[in-house]
Amino acid sequence: MAEINRDVVVVGAGAAGLTAANDLRKAGVSVAVLESRDRVGGRLWTDVIGGTMLELGGQWVSPDQDALIDTVAELGLETFSRYREGESVYIGPGGSLTRFTGDIFPVAPETEKVMVDLIDRLDVMVAQMDPDRPWEHPDAGALDRVSFEAWLRQQTDDEEAADNIALFIAGAMLTKPPHAFSALQALLMAASAGSFTNLVDADFILDKRVVGGLQQVPLLLAERLGDDVFLGQPVRSLEWGAHGVTAVSDGVTVHARAAVLAVPPVLYSRISFVPALPRLQHQMHQHLSMGFVIKVHAVYDRPFWREQGLSGTAFSPYEISHEAYDNTNHGDERGTLVGFVSDRHADDLFRLSATERKERILESLSHYYGEEAKSPVVYYESDWGTEEWTRGAYAASFDLGGLHRYGADLRTAVGPIHFACSDLAGAGYQHVDGAIRMGHLVASQIVEQVRS
Ligand code: FAD
Repeated sequence: MAEINRDVVVVGAGAAGLTAANDLRKAGVSVAVLESRDRVGGRLWTDVIGGTMLELGGQWVSPDQDALIDTVAELGLETFSRYREGESVYIGPGGSLTRFTGDIFPVAPETEKVMVDLIDRLDVMVAQMDPDRPWEHPDAGALDRVSFEAWLRQQTDDEEAADNIALFIAGAMLTKPPHAFSALQALLMAASAGSFTNLVDADFILDKRVVGGLQQVPLLLAERLGDDVFLGQPVRSLEWGAHGVTAVSDGVTVHARAAVLAVPPVLYSRISFVPALPRLQHQMHQHLSMGFVIKVHAVYDRPFWREQGLSGTAFSPYEISHEAYDNTNHGDERGTLVGFVSDRHADDLFRLSATERKERILESLSHYYGEEAKSPVVYYESDWGTEEWTRGAYAASFDLGGLHRYGADLRTAVGPIHFACSDLAGAGYQHVDGAIRMGHLVASQIVEQVRS
């Protein structure tokens, strides 16, 4: 067992932990990063499967994500735009398919009016929220007591309008059913992306990708840290006090003045804290849980949907795969579709055999793109639910009432232990941008402490 001394020990080599470690290093603070997996990146993972590079985790960059955009530029990485020429596809409650352009789904005029009104109303409420302080929204208490589904049903009797508005936050973002999180949590999701309108606009929220894959961000950040990143080292215990911390992983013990816990909050309880964390943290962390989504890649010998004038963008709250996109790699002749299967649909599909699950998902994709979608040359399901060091996707959110009750305490350091993760972010919440913002934030806090 190696035993080393550093100023700061960083637990977790995802975007948050590696950003913090690099900032600290630049400020002259020595670090050791302990990572449980045998790779860096956490929820960023680019792999070659069946001869095609696939982004198994996070991949898209939107124009407001300054922290991520700055990092991508600073690392010298190139971006390219998601393919968006042609028409999108919407499938309504009766299974009817309509092609459309623009953001608003092609629904009946009265349903469209309700959707537009709801989006306007949500935009107004979101504008009253500072994503870094959602608990200070003027109606925070009341909005955190009602589920997003119940709130929507209070606004309208139009089922299809409510289903569609719910989809933008529930299936598409928090990856939980809309009855499982509050209206306040829904507003935070929208506020973290600038507005509800931005979430509805796929060309905004899913704008660009990084050539060669987004995992290059953590890979390049880790490269700069060299031997100070220790892979295959799950931290099992963290002893802390006025003197600092001692982090013990399977093969390394690090004595440091401070720790950055850069792991998803659902995993804090995997670490034995000595002494135990305070009761507030024990309680608070139990009110956060991961959403669940299967990201499915289907690769074809060519992007056949483009020949039909389709952009590849497809939505339906009534389909197993509630959204799907053209995810063809930069300069690739093959065509790649990516579909997403969230929450209850994902649970149901994992009760089936792998063959049946694949059939059901491809059947759903064929509803959008036609029979050819059933015959990919490569098919891959990212299943983050089975990843011991993540346990769901995309990220964690509070249950009803949790955000108002505990939000203000979420990022507060406990003695020498600081918390950083996309799941704790305001702006960029649940996204790589938020992870990077949290990494910068804790690093600046620690540097200030060290220098004072
Ligand atoms: P993580 O990436 O989870 O990093 C935490 C690290 O800590 C991991 O490497 C883990 O192995 C390690 N760890 C855990 N426990 C321990 C321990 N005890 N000891 C040591 N190490 C430990 N975001 C976007 O911006 N755009 C997208 O398009 C997008 N799509 C997504 C699609 C999928 C399928 C998924 C899963 C996520 C997606 N996200 C997307 C979200 C984004 O990937 C995450 O928000 C972000 O990568 C989280 O970074 P992080 O550093 O906060 O946490």
